[in-house]
Amino acid sequence: MAFYGNNRRGLLIVISGASGTGKGTVIKALFDKLPNLVFSVSATTRLPRVGEKDGVNYHFMSREEFEREIAADAFLEYADVYGGAYYGTLRREVDKHIAAGKDVLLEIDTQGAINVMDKAPDGVFVFLLPPSKEELRKRLTGRGTEDEQAVAKRLAAADVEFERAKRYTYLVVNDEVNNAVDKIAAIIAAEHCKASRCNDILDEVTKN
Ligand code: ADP
Ligand code: 5GP
Repeated sequence: MAFYGNNRRGLLIVISGASGTGKGTVIKALFDKLPNLVFSVSATTRLPRVGEKDGVNYHFMSREEFEREIAADAFLEYADVYGGAYYGTLRREVDKHIAAGKDVLLEIDTQGAINVMDKAPDGVFVFLLPPSKEELRKRLTGRGTEDEQAVAKRLAAADVEFERAKRYTYLVVNDEVNNAVDKIAAIIAAEHCKASRCNDILDEVTKN
């Protein structure tokens, strides 16, 4: 089993939350605040959109290639999204950053996160909550990217996501963006100081 611990190595950080909670907004601000944080580039079998680059937006693969990677257990998690295309997180993509001491952030749904929990139990799992369901509805409507029917569908899906929130290591309420960002940055700092991740530092400091 891959071990995503140790202070010299980076952390695997997984963030989930219902659509409209503010994940994209909070994550963007988190990247501005934490220079050691990198995003994991997923693999997919969908075709690149105009302007998308292989290795930057996604690692684009054929279905055959993706299924070969599944058979080789190359994925931390993967899903057949909307029944049409495969999407997945490659272990090697995550491992290369962690070995280089970078903290790697995955923004994935609760089902994907639960799969990662099984494979990387020392990951840091953060569930972002809206202050209330009413506020979630307001944010989804206010964003203006979904029609009324799509908003209702996402709110129903949110209840399923909330059910799974208990399995996460941390719950963070996104009341104010800056508050949520500060809390996640504090979680990352605390995780780096965990005694179980700091054996190498302790050895170095205490050696004669
Ligand atoms: P997600 O990525 O979780 O679907 P977004 O980041 O797109 O959510 O945010 C949904 C909407 O809510 C956006 O219009 C965004 O500007 C707004 N938003 C995000 N965080 C907050 C916050 N703390 N307070 C008020 N509005 C917010
Ligand atoms: P898009 O095709 O718009 O880039 O993404 C479609 C969906 O695929 C989004 O809901 C996105 O969250 C999901 N997705 C992207 N990468 C991954 C991944 O690595 N794993 C999983 N499980 N879903 C992903």
